[in-house]
Amino acid sequence: MTSIQAIIFDVDDTLYPERDYVFSGYRAVGAAFADRLDVNADELAARMRALFDTPDRRRVFNAIVADAGVAPADADALVQEMVATYRGHTPEIALDPEARELLLDLHDRVALGAISDGYLDVQQRKVDALELAELLDEIVLTDTWGREFWKPHARAFEEIAARLCVAHDRCVYVGDNLAKDFVAPNQLGWQTVLLNRPDRVHGANEAPDNGAPQHTITLLAQLTKLFAL
Ligand SMILES: [Mg+2]
Repeated sequence: MTSIQAIIFDVDDTLYPERDYVFSGYRAVGAAFADRLDVNADELAARMRALFDTPDRRRVFNAIVADAGVAPADADALVQEMVATYRGHTPEIALDPEARELLLDLHDRVALGAISDGYLDVQQRKVDALELAELLDEIVLTDTWGREFWKPHARAFEEIAARLCVAHDRCVYVGDNLAKDFVAPNQLGWQTVLLNRPDRVHGANEAPDNGAPQHTITLLAQLTKLFAL
């Protein structure tokens, strides 16, 4: 195997559990809307967490608004306000301790980066909360260029390899989402690694043609051995 010079990570469900972000958002929504719905904020957040593990995951706010007996005519606007609160909240999230340790450990030996999709301001708040700028050499948020450049588009992978001055066959991408994470780096000749977290949010997704990872790990620390770093 060619020796590796750069490891690029996805962010959500790769460097920290995405579920932590979701639940942080639910706490913010619970705090902001409990009075208007005439319910207790903690109970409201608990109800949302319970709904997250059901097929109603995508309709959590609709469900709590309906539970509270809000008139259907007012429900949509209220849900939109909740979505805005959720996306605009300052997340209470932290790197996995093992992720932090690994990044500090690898920093002298390889270049480190991140590529992440999602609404730009939302992802920037996550990057800030996780203090990634201090631990990584380059961070590319694909929404900087617009949604058409979200993964599986190759632009972010080409951009970060160029910024780090590392050849594609010396790069590794570590991600969690089989639907989109590995298509572009596979095409470019990167090594690709799935981090298989038991609780990952997109765990049910399947890989498209050419989108399967070349390696699978269950702990980030396994990267060291996998690439003889
Ligand atoms: Mg992810």
